[in-house]
Amino acid sequence: MSDEKRIGTVEGAFGNLLHVKFSTPIKQGEVAMVRLDELRLKAEVIEINGDTAKIQVYEDTHGISLGTEVEFLGDLLEAELGPGLLSSIFDGLQNPLEDVAEKAGFFLPRGLYLQPLDRQKKWDFVPIAKVGDELQRGDTLGTTQEMRFTHQIMVPFSLYGRYQVEWVQSAGSYTIDQVVARLRDQSGELHEITMVQKWPVKIPLSEGVKVKPEKMMDTGLRIIDTQFPVMKGGTFCSPGPFGAGKTVMQHHLAKYSSVDVVIVVACGERAGEVVEVLREFPHLIDPHTGDTLMTRTAIICNTSSMPVAARESSIYMGITLGEYYRQMGLDVLVLADSTSRWAQALREMSGRLEEIPGEEAFPAYLASRIAEFYERSGVINTKDGKLGSVTIGGAVSPAGGNFEEPVTQATLSVVGAFLGLSRERSDSRRYPAIDPLISWSKYVEQVGHELSKDVHGWSQMVNRADHILREGNEIGRRMEVVGEEGTAIRDLVVYLKSELYDFAYLQQNAFDKEDCYCPLKRQLKLFSFINQVFEKEFSFDTHDEARSFFLGLQNSIKNINFLPFESDEYFKEMGEVEKQLKG
Ligand code: ADP
Ligand code: MG
Repeated sequence: MSDEKRIGTVEGAFGNLLHVKFSTPIKQGEVAMVRLDELRLKAEVIEINGDTAKIQVYEDTHGISLGTEVEFLGDLLEAELGPGLLSSIFDGLQNPLEDVAEKAGFFLPRGLYLQPLDRQKKWDFVPIAKVGDELQRGDTLGTTQEMRFTHQIMVPFSLYGRYQVEWVQSAGSYTIDQVVARLRDQSGELHEITMVQKWPVKIPLSEGVKVKPEKMMDTGLRIIDTQFPVMKGGTFCSPGPFGAGKTVMQHHLAKYSSVDVVIVVACGERAGEVVEVLREFPHLIDPHTGDTLMTRTAIICNTSSMPVAARESSIYMGITLGEYYRQMGLDVLVLADSTSRWAQALREMSGRLEEIPGEEAFPAYLASRIAEFYERSGVINTKDGKLGSVTIGGAVSPAGGNFEEPVTQATLSVVGAFLGLSRERSDSRRYPAIDPLISWSKYVEQVGHELSKDVHGWSQMVNRADHILREGNEIGRRMEVVGEEGTAIRDLVVYLKSELYDFAYLQQNAFDKEDCYCPLKRQLKLFSFINQVFEKEFSFDTHDEARSFFLGLQNSIKNINFLPFESDEYFKEMGEVEKQLKG
């Protein structure tokens, strides 16, 4: 870009969409700053027609009028990447919200953009590359310790081609802006490298080879891990009506999923929920490492009080941070709550662009945008042989809980697992309210293969459990009509088995300190036991006898779920239920 300023003027405004006339060439996706007195409001070029650009402003637009000047900056919307991202809370434009609050108090003023990463903090840099090495983008120059992670300082992704290392900083303590290496490109030009780099947020980036997901991501929720598993590098969505428990579930996954890094994108949901995470996370301990949870988490937070356009940037910011950590060989989980809010923002913008609307006035490209987002998941085998993954989980909040609407449908056609929350289950307080009769996972077979090493025939057991749930459900419905007495004892037993599975296994109490998180090892034990119940041919003389036996067993198991795993009491009670089953 030349140093000469490229300025346009506003010719029309439609909400936060501005029509801007320009004279020097501009490009799709570049950042523009609307100049309003001393204020600079961030915007992005989304359409170019001859000498008029349509730009989307990421801030409240009041005060903008005909003739307001707009400066085009040339860069795409970018994320700043480097050590110090973890534990941070950003908005969709990567403003560090804690610093903003310090500068500006409780209300976020528009046009205030602070640097995402701390400029003063020093990081211990350990050089890896050597003078004379031939490197390419993504290759390691050195490392620094970011909490418990070895943060790789890489050749920036903006550098194409081959570079020779001219100089590397020696081990020591440096700020992210200090030069840590000089690289010479093939035309002889030198490039100074610091510990920060920038990635455009809307373009997927990775170096290495994309490989198939092979490891499960365990979550500590039995219904997910056992019945509808998710894989590291895979995708899932959790649609559900208002109040069914989508956000509670996302918070659970952020806390307990077996990954290294979690990026939480709170996109257009209630502000109070975000505050809750912020209060809670620094005090919660990661069961996998014993560290506080905040040290593995970054939060991108666009509450419903921020302009809708910023939701889009939140989603892209979140996934870009995820890709960056994946490149270091880490397992990352990106959670978005909710993608429906993002889709609404797309719909609003599409309306202002006067595009031909698709179903329910969503733009025709809705499905492809959703697909592109989930396609940024996956496992990458990096050039130095590390495996990093990005797993994406999106909550979807369809109006009235109707899954037939475009956002849910478009999402269902691309994800690997569908964890559908139903009103029926949340109303009867069967939490987590994932409905086992509608949900599915394409990863059952593969995870079964992995778990079969511990429990032989795992996926057959899962399929049988699914079968019993379905059969039990049908018998239950019939029983509502003909009554228990009109039901054969054999059928009643199938029904009771399905209810036992539901109450003692699929449901979990999010507020009990033991039951809220069920480690995989514990699931393997319990599920094997439940399968003995499934297998057993019971012979009861009366309906009452059957019912009371199953109720007793169900309550015993539920109590065991509240006991610390492998404690004395746990073994004692487990021994009791095993006797109960044999007797
Ligand atoms: P959504 O995000 O789907 O609108 P929330 O996640 O905010 O719904 O859940 C609404 C309420 O439902 C919670 O405040 C809580 O009282 C209850 N709830 C949700 N999930 C659970 C759970 N796993 N255990 C107990 N209560 C739950
Ligand atoms: Mg919610």
